[in-house]
Amino acid sequence: MSQVRVRFAPSPTGYLHIGGVRTALFNWLFARGEQGTFILRIEDTDQSRSTDEAIQAILDGLRWVGLDWDQGPFRQTDRMDLYRQHALQLLDRKQAYWCVCTAEELDARRQEAQATGGQQKYDGRCREKGILNPSGEAALRFRAPQEGQTIVNDLIKGRVVFDNAVLDDLIILRSNGYPTYNFSVVVDDALMGITHVIRGDDHLTNTPRQVPMFQALGFTVPQFGHLPMIMGPDKTRLSKRHGATSVLAYRDMGYLPEAMINYLVRLGWSSGDQEIFSIAELVGKFSFEHVQKSAAVFNPDKLLWVNAHHIRHGDPSRIASLLIPFLEQKGFAETVKAAPPGWMEQLVVLLRERARTLVEMAAP
Ligand code: GLU
Repeated sequence: MSQVRVRFAPSPTGYLHIGGVRTALFNWLFARGEQGTFILRIEDTDQSRSTDEAIQAILDGLRWVGLDWDQGPFRQTDRMDLYRQHALQLLDRKQAYWCVCTAEELDARRQEAQATGGQQKYDGRCREKGILNPSGEAALRFRAPQEGQTIVNDLIKGRVVFDNAVLDDLIILRSNGYPTYNFSVVVDDALMGITHVIRGDDHLTNTPRQVPMFQALGFTVPQFGHLPMIMGPDKTRLSKRHGATSVLAYRDMGYLPEAMINYLVRLGWSSGDQEIFSIAELVGKFSFEHVQKSAAVFNPDKLLWVNAHHIRHGDPSRIASLLIPFLEQKGFAETVKAAPPGWMEQLVVLLRERARTLVEMAAP
């Protein structure tokens, strides 16, 4: 086992998006290639949006594509004491402070700032109040550095420099006792010994907020790698408008898990002009050096082409076993049951030249 420890940290607020699977895949490939550890962490502190069905969809989706995790799934809601403990540690060290500004007050000030073109960030009103035991509702804010720069040497984007003057004194513990995303993620990444934080580049602006928190808590700052976004053919962020984006929807449409992996890895990574890869080959070849900086475009026709290739060249008995549920769905359960040995494989060999999905293969 090497020192490499990475994690996939989805928020369970809906189905497992193929963009999430691509993030999980890059983490998994890096861990497997380095004999490291791949951790699954469910970020479920947003109680109003997290559901058990969504957690199940994450587990089912990852299992379907074969991205097995070595530790977890951990749930952040099981770790609330840790967040509180570390938040209070920051308070003790005066690197956090109680803020008693109400939501209404903050809102009013934000609107005023907007109208007058002022800064949108928290104005620091409670920063120097030195409140120790707030009597009413209070949130704990991080005392963010206001001067200097935070420099991130990103594995993919390269050197990114952020001015600390733009940093907000973020709330780390809400008045209801729940940690905020930026804080729980830091505590967890530190306590779980994460060496490389690999995530979508929609989180790039969170990194300069998180780095000072690692430092304030006395933790080693991990390395970061921000993956390019996935866009639809119209160059807007990939969403339902572009077709199915749930990974399990692709399973149900008759895609092979190995085709899904093969297609997703090419969304942002390349190895010369090779298009077809086995998973074992990817584990050997993957590196961040060949991850592109710019956004990748999801192309359903290419996914279909990759799937057709894996159907045609895959082991017929494996394809046959994946085909069975589709045949059953089409009402061929009895035929499947009565099939003599080798018959299913022959059927696959006969149909695989034309069928691009298992659904097409099972069509009467
Ligand atoms: N839970 C976050 C999300 O689903 C990811 C956090 C991270 O990777 O740092 O977007």
